[in-house]
Order: sequence, then structure tokens, then C-alpha cells
Amino acid sequence: MTSATTIAAPAVAPDRHGLEVFAAGLGSPAYWPGDAGYDEACRIWNAMIGRRPALVVRPKDAGEVAACIRFAAERGLPLSVRGGGHNIAGTALCDGGVMIDFSTHKEVEVEPSTGHVRVQPGAAWVDVDNATQPFGLVVPGGIVSATGVAGFTLGGGFGWVSRRYGFAADNLRAVEIVTADGQVRRASAEENPDLFWAIRGGGGNFGVVTAFEFAAQPHGPEVVAGLVLHPMARAKEVLALFREATAKAPDGLCHLLIMRKAPPLPIIPEEAHGAPVAGIAVCYSGPPEEGEELVAPIKRFGAPLADTIGRKPFVAHQQFLDAGQPFGRRYYWKSEYLDALPEAADETIITHATANASPHSAVLCMHLGGAAARVPEDQSAVGNRRAEFVFNVQGAWEDATEDPRHVAWAREFWSAMRPFSSGGTYVNFLTEDAEQERVRAAYGAALYDRLARIKARYDPDNLLRSNQNIRPATRD
Ligand SMILES: Cc1cc2nc3c(=O)[nH]c(=O)nc-3n(C[C@H](O)[C@H](O)[C@H](O)COP(=O)(O)OP(=O)(O)OC[C@H]3O[C@@H](n4cnc5c(N)ncnc54)[C@H](O)[C@@H]3O)c2cc1C
Repeated sequence: MTSATTIAAPAVAPDRHGLEVFAAGLGSPAYWPGDAGYDEACRIWNAMIGRRPALVVRPKDAGEVAACIRFAAERGLPLSVRGGGHNIAGTALCDGGVMIDFSTHKEVEVEPSTGHVRVQPGAAWVDVDNATQPFGLVVPGGIVSATGVAGFTLGGGFGWVSRRYGFAADNLRAVEIVTADGQVRRASAEENPDLFWAIRGGGGNFGVVTAFEFAAQPHGPEVVAGLVLHPMARAKEVLALFREATAKAPDGLCHLLIMRKAPPLPIIPEEAHGAPVAGIAVCYSGPPEEGEELVAPIKRFGAPLADTIGRKPFVAHQQFLDAGQPFGRRYYWKSEYLDALPEAADETIITHATANASPHSAVLCMHLGGAAARVPEDQSAVGNRRAEFVFNVQGAWEDATEDPRHVAWAREFWSAMRPFSSGGTYVNFLTEDAEQERVRAAYGAALYDRLARIKARYDPDNLLRSNQNIRPATRD
């Protein structure tokens, strides 16, 4: 999406006819409720979200994005943007407005000699990994490969290699972005630096990004990675192992604690299927022989129900959690950043993890820190980057009649963990019910207030508000 044609929004009312006239003027695919293709375009990862846009547009270039923005602004219509459609709060969907849908824009271009990677706004991490890993390059992505690059990067974005290379946003070099006034701009350290600062963490509040440019880093393609699983009866020891391993880990080594009911996978003995388990997943970014030595204590511990840790392609490791997080289930998350995972939290974690009634719910605690924490706090809008862990209670289930039970489990678990919180939370894990003070907590007062001033500059009327919203400051 590079060319920026200028298309004026027609002066018609936003009824069905007006929307049809507008969409026909664009010439790109558009869908209305009742059309073949509409339901598919509005199908996002979290089935809890039922908003219905009046019009879905798949713009072919930045000029058409600008036209959608102007049209929505002039008619006072809600506007939303879909990257990968993978957000827990489902902010890709708006009710009764225009949804810009990038789901068919997934191209990734790699320049192996410079590590420059250009990514279209509908790409998922699987698309980036498949394009970069053949050259032994990586852009720090998420731990589920179907997650969209766009929303992920704009909110910060961490994963298996973030302790070595920082957040995805730290590796962003430039974007093409259409701001709320319909202008197509470039933002980088040199061009519109205030905007570039804000979009690295501030989410979709500042414009619609039509291209991302990253600097990729060396990694893989073979890594030492995988998962060990133990019965929940040994959870206390697993927590101690996790604590010790994370305290000693070099930047290249990432650990992820996972507690859930054992899924019915062939790698797990049948008698354990459905029983609560406690596991540690690892990934080492560096020479495999070093990785093998570093993960030896995890592999040596106890008699695991399953142990998949070994040498493997990074792209395989990036996908091993995908099947547990499919599109179309009902999801409800609550999360906190933690500065430490003290022993005093063990009983709370084990009690609530064991009380989980869903075969799909889980609690995940990822070790952060490393290079991600050493970037100066004011270098970008990524909030809470000094936090050592992110703790995420992930409710997941199939049947809508079970909503209250699983939502209550996630909320009670999260409330019990709050005494151990750093006070911050991760903007990309906030649910639909997030209150404004949680958005502030995702940044802290200094970053939030600076974001609000930049928001006032680029989107004073808060057109872009289908997101974890940063309200424009009243005075710049
Ligand atoms: C299963 C799963 C695993 C995850 N794992 C991780 C993880 O390991 N690490 C991590 O950091 N996060 C993770 N996340 C959270 C993830 O970062 C967010 O859900 C993120 O919003 C996903 O991006 P998306 O493009 O798929 O979202 P979408 O739902 O498409 O969009 C969400 C919001 O992003 C903004 N947006 C999207 N595209 C654009 C654009 N082109 N221009 C401007 N704004 C845009 C809009 O405000 C939009 O409402 C995970 C999420 C899920 C569901």
C-alpha cells in the first residue's frame, strides 16, 4: 500500500445508499450486513465481541484509507481498523460505522543484506517469520503466530526474542500512516518524530498505518525451544524452578510459565488429559549448543509428563501454541505486570489455576526484562517496560451460557494477584471492559499525558477511538 491517490468523500448521508455510493467510488471490495463476505470480514478472534459495522472496506492503498477516514469524519460515523483481528477487546469492530479491513494485505518484503523488512498492515507474525527466517532474521513477534503485526506493534509487542531484541515497536524504523485529517504521512525518527514516538506503544490512536518498516535481527532458523509439563501436584516446585531459571537467564533465554488443563495431545500421556498441569516453555536465541546447556536444569527437573525441549526450527516453535488459541472461541483476559514473582504468590496462583473449570483457559506468566527493559523509558510510548514479568489470566471457552462462570474465574484470579502487581498493565491485553484508568496504568502518568498532547495534535476530535483510547488533551 504505497500510492496515495486523493479521493474526496461524496456529500451523501450515511444510509445504505450513501454508503454504497461511497464504496462504489472507491472501487475496492466492500461489504454490508447481509452480503456474502460480510460475516467472514467481521469474524474476529474473540467471539465475545458482537459489534456490526455498517460498511466494511478493503482499501487498495493509502489514498483510499484517507477517503474512508474523511468519509467517517464528515458523517460523524464510528471508524475502526482491522489488522489481524486478534485483539481481546475486539476493537477492530465498530457498531454502525466504517471498518477498514486490511485482512487481505499480508505481503512482507525482506532485504536480507540490510535486514530491512516492510510489512503490510494485515500480515500476521507467521507471514513475517516465514519471510525472514530463511535468512536467519527475526522481528520480535508474539508467541501465537496468527497474531496481527499491526495492533501488536502499535501497542508495543513482546515475544520469545524480546529479552534479546526488545519490543516489536523498538525494532520499528518507519511507518506510512494516514492521520485523522486524511493526510498520508511518513513517521520515523526524522519525519514527524512526535507521531513516530506515539505510535510505538500508543496503539491505533494516532492514525491508520498502511505500511510498517522494521530492522530485523539475527536469530535462528534453528533454536533450542519447547515445553516441559508436570502434574499440578508439583506446581510449587515448578514455580520455584521458574523463579530460579528466570533470575539467572541471559538475555537470549526466555521462559514462559503455563498452567492449564492438559490438552488431549499425543505428547501427553492419555491418563493426564484434562488434568491440571504446570509447565515451563523456553526459547533460546543464540547458538543451539549454548541453549542446550542453559535449559538443562529445566529438562533435568522431575519426571515431566511431556518434554518437547530440543533443537527445532523457530517457525515451528512460534506456532506450537496456535492450536490452543483458535479464532472464534469466547475469550476473557485479565492481566498485570509484575516486578517480581515472589514465593508469597505461589498459593494464590496454584489455588486459582487449579480452580479453572474450562479445558481451554490458562494462566501464562512471561519473563520480560533483558534488552526490552534497558531501552530508555521515554524513547517511545511503550509503557511499563521495566516490568520483569507479564501475568495473564486467559479465560477461554465455547458455550455462551458459560460466560459468567469463566469471566468470574478470570476476574477473581486477577483480583487475587493484584497485590503482587507493579501497578501497570499491558495495553494489548486489556479487555473490552477496560476502564480509562487502566489505559492510564498501561502507560503511567508521564507517557499518558505526552500521548494525550500528541493525540490533540493529530486527532483532536478523537475520530480514532475504537481502541484503548487516549483522550486528546484539552490544551496542547
Ligand atoms: C492469542 C493471542 C496471543 C497474543 N500474544 C501476544 C504476545 O505474545 N505478545 C504481545 O505483545 N501481544 C500478544 N497478543 C496481544 C496482541 O498484541 C493484540 O491483541 C494486538 O492488538 C493484535 O493485533 P491485531 O492487528 O491482530 O489486532 P486487531 O484486532 O486487528 O486490531 C486491534 C487494534 O489495533 C489497532 N490497529 C490495527 N491495525 C491498525 C492499523 N493498520 N493502523 C492503526 N491501528 C491499527 C486498532 O486500534 C485496532 O482496534 C496476543 C493476542 C492474542 C489474541
